[in-house]
Amino acid sequence: MALLVMKFGGTSVATVERLRRAADRIIQEKEAGNQIIVVVSAMGGTTDDLLAKAKQISNHPSKRETDVLLSTGEQVTIALLSMVLIEKGYEAVSFTGWQAGIRTEASYGRARISAIDTSLIRPCLRQGVIVVVAGFQGMTESGDITTLGRGGSDTSAVALAAAFGASRCDIYTDVTGVFTTDPRYVDQARKLREISYDEMLELAYLGAGVLHPRAVEYAKDNHIELVVRSSFSNEPGTVIKEEVGMEKTKLVRGLAFEKNVSKVTLLGLSNSVSAVSRVFDVIASKQISIDVIVQNVLDEAQTNLSFTVDRDLLDETLDVLRTHEKDLEFNRLIFESGLAKVSIVGSGMASNPGVAAEMFHTLAKEKIKVKMISTSEIKVSTIIDEEKLPAALDTLHETFHLAEEESNSFRPGN
Ligand code: ASP
Ligand code: MG
Repeated sequence: MALLVMKFGGTSVATVERLRRAADRIIQEKEAGNQIIVVVSAMGGTTDDLLAKAKQISNHPSKRETDVLLSTGEQVTIALLSMVLIEKGYEAVSFTGWQAGIRTEASYGRARISAIDTSLIRPCLRQGVIVVVAGFQGMTESGDITTLGRGGSDTSAVALAAAFGASRCDIYTDVTGVFTTDPRYVDQARKLREISYDEMLELAYLGAGVLHPRAVEYAKDNHIELVVRSSFSNEPGTVIKEEVGMEKTKLVRGLAFEKNVSKVTLLGLSNSVSAVSRVFDVIASKQISIDVIVQNVLDEAQTNLSFTVDRDLLDETLDVLRTHEKDLEFNRLIFESGLAKVSIVGSGMASNPGVAAEMFHTLAKEKIKVKMISTSEIKVSTIIDEEKLPAALDTLHETFHLAEEESNSFRPGN
């Protein structure tokens, strides 16, 4: 008997009506002879509402208590969904993260799952009971409640799929799959049938919100096939797996982007061996994550160092740099906001030089200035003015033929 993990995101469980719809999906798979573990998010908007309440009390509410608070969202959903299933005549039991044996490291707000004790759920599965687990939460060794970071229910689902040796993990969401880029920005955006773990990982890290990046990591490490699909239609979704077949020949699989990017530059930074590490040490000490980094050595004594941060973290970043101005040894601090990051992603580019050149050429043709660049084996990211973002996405989507279905030119037997 196959074991299936089905995960429903916040919009898919936002109302009782939607819970009924989700339940019908679950029952379909149950009737098809599968053992089922369901993982759910909090009902749409709940996590934000809870956070807003905490913010009314403090700008920096206790991290431990924030996790206790946020974990209640998912607990509501597991109870309601189980009730719906029971009402429909099926045996269902809800489990919080800790009841399900999900152990995490001791870091509030973005804990990593360290182990799952499968002995707690196994007996229910064996008896054919539908198991409904709260996503996004776990418990530390010492019994404190933790959460896994925003969007973390995906990770709970994949981790459970790995721990129980599930044959598949279906992620039900409010879109029909993974798109070449955000359809709200590019009319031509197309749903992909398949995408590799590595490509999906890049897209997820680059801000394509459809999947939690850590979920993709788990899936890759444990060879769990993921399917992203809509809970509102029967359309086939996007399969995420090791190697993709039909669309293999595409150099670029998708475009990702991020808005609200700010760039910070330290002019005349000391060129001593430790200067750069000291800059990033003070920033890291504030838990600020930086993104693209560019360094230009000016001469023996001086360099210019630029990096990007999220716009929301700009003020804090500037503050900490100014506070340490003396020991960091730089001449001037300048910054710029209103920027965006646009990235092209595709495994094909690893073995095909010229893809980056094509990207820069395309942007230049549209008179879009590239302000910073960063690359990996399978992606090229550029920092541009945010107001140019829609034009950049359109023209790149076109240049890399993303609207065209690869399989049109695929002839079996050839
Ligand atoms: N409820 C949490 C959030 O909104 C976790 C999730 O939905 O995956 O981030
Ligand atoms: Mg999500």
